[in-house]
Amino acid sequence: MKKAIILDLDNTIYPVSSIADHLFNELFNFLDQHIAGEGIEHINKAKEDLKRIPYQKVADKYQFSDLVKNKGLELLNNIEYNRPMQPFDDYKHIRETKITKFLVTTGFTKLQWSKVKMLNIEADFEAIHIVDPELSRLTKKDIFASILEKYDYKPEDVLIIGDDPESEIKAASELGIDTFLYDPENKHPNARVTYRSQNLKDAAAIVA
Ligand SMILES: [Mg+2]
Repeated sequence: MKKAIILDLDNTIYPVSSIADHLFNELFNFLDQHIAGEGIEHINKAKEDLKRIPYQKVADKYQFSDLVKNKGLELLNNIEYNRPMQPFDDYKHIRETKITKFLVTTGFTKLQWSKVKMLNIEADFEAIHIVDPELSRLTKKDIFASILEKYDYKPEDVLIIGDDPESEIKAASELGIDTFLYDPENKHPNARVTYRSQNLKDAAAIVA
């Protein structure tokens, strides 16, 4: 019998692809202005990488100057997403469960909070934690451990729901917490998980 679930945000509650174009627009415009001298091919490669690799790493790979690197970081630290957003259809099954829920997500603090607001999911959670590497060295694993401690949960009382075997799934496994891999496109058939499904309905059934 689970007492709580901990959810990831990006690609677990909503698809990142649905906001990527608008979100990256600002950053891409910024790059067009600041590294134009490097040539179009160089810029386009950097842009493609930015869709899947953290900004800091891309900045190093493409040797942005310190000035450009820091200005880009400042932009990302302040960026918000203010357009309408929709959760995945099957998120409603999670929302309807009575179990205590926590949201733990990694990213820039302002941006992650703006997504929570636009998705209108704040009220679904007992607590929301943003893991922001720019602000703190705490990891998802640290936050999971602190939730167990604060609410006096044993690892077996909790289920972690996420889409990334290398992130929340790994952190939870290391703490002995059951994992539910949400994998609608079956991208990670070989990941080691407790449960896996292409539908969040199955996660709701586990904790019902
Ligand atoms: Mg995710």
